[in-house]
Amino acid sequence: MVIRSGTYLHKRRVAAGLSLGEAAARLAVLPWAIRRPTPAELRAMMARLAQAEEGGEPFTLAQIQLYSAVVHLDPVVYLQLLALELAASATPLPPGARRGTARHLVIPRLCRGCACSDLAPCGQSVGAPGESTHCRWVEPDLCSTCAAAHIHRPPPCGSGPIDSGLRAEIVA
Ligand SMILES: [Zn+2]
Ligand SMILES: [Zn+2]
Repeated sequence: MVIRSGTYLHKRRVAAGLSLGEAAARLAVLPWAIRRPTPAELRAMMARLAQAEEGGEPFTLAQIQLYSAVVHLDPVVYLQLLALELAASATPLPPGARRGTARHLVIPRLCRGCACSDLAPCGQSVGAPGESTHCRWVEPDLCSTCAAAHIHRPPPCGSGPIDSGLRAEIVA
């Protein structure tokens, strides 16, 4: 089963070891590198990230590309997941538009643990050529990093509420 685009964002952020606040802080300094973002700006950034992770307003192409500078993810995978969501949704279409079907769309190959993919794998290319530390597929939807770490848990966010500590951070 393919995951939702918001779950993809969540899994990639968790795999990067970043809290929502840390991801927001790193994102916030990108456009304003010469000025520290204010606490209000950081809170707004965190709220926007949480919104996208929870399946609210999705990121635009420009936004997901910017976010990929903070969290190691594949913007193309995100767009593929969004397209699959739209094809399956009951959202009314504008006059004249036709709905595609999911079977015409690419279903990206993702690790069920960390949502890494061929173009955004775990690890880094270090050492001599051929000595990549990237993860590899050990099952059709499980990478070697997660297999080693026994991260076989179901998606931590899914359709449920985000954890309360995180929510408290945003509200604070
Ligand atoms: Zn994995
Ligand atoms: Zn991996």
